[in-house]
Amino acid sequence: MSWGALLQPDLVLGKTVVSLSPQMISKYQLEGLILDVDDTLISTRTREVSPEVMHWFEQVRPLLKHVWLVSNNISDARIGAVANTLSVPYIISAAKPSRRKLRRAWESMNLDAGRVAMVGDRLFTDVLAGNRLGLFTVLVKPMFAPGQTVGRYPVHAFEVWFSEMMGASLEAES
Ligand SMILES: [Mg+2]
Repeated sequence: MSWGALLQPDLVLGKTVVSLSPQMISKYQLEGLILDVDDTLISTRTREVSPEVMHWFEQVRPLLKHVWLVSNNISDARIGAVANTLSVPYIISAAKPSRRKLRRAWESMNLDAGRVAMVGDRLFTDVLAGNRLGLFTVLVKPMFAPGQTVGRYPVHAFEVWFSEMMGASLEAES
């Protein structure tokens, strides 16, 4: 598989995770979600799950058989607290784009790879790891911290630039 293909999300949201709607979950026949945490569910500048994200999660959770959090963060306290808030299992220190721990979450679901979405803000970790396992990959915009309206994300910008150079198409779905 080419780098362009490995870095190609199946769905580019162009907005934060809360725009992954129940309609999209039905349309793509998703039955499981594996969610990145930092900058996907919560900004790296905060520890709290926002009311907006809680509301979103309450809408989509009943449509899904399984939801896991899989984070590269090494802090059990931080990731465990988010998992506890959402009442879902979690894995820390996942070392995405390594497949090893992501595969553990997916295999525990007992679902076909195409029915499980890996949802994250990073192409080089979340999307790459998900594509390596054949999961349905969803690229989201990074979550803002409270009071933050415009973010600067040089790492994300570089990854987008590189992935497009390699042939990935990152136009957001409208
Ligand atoms: Mg992230």
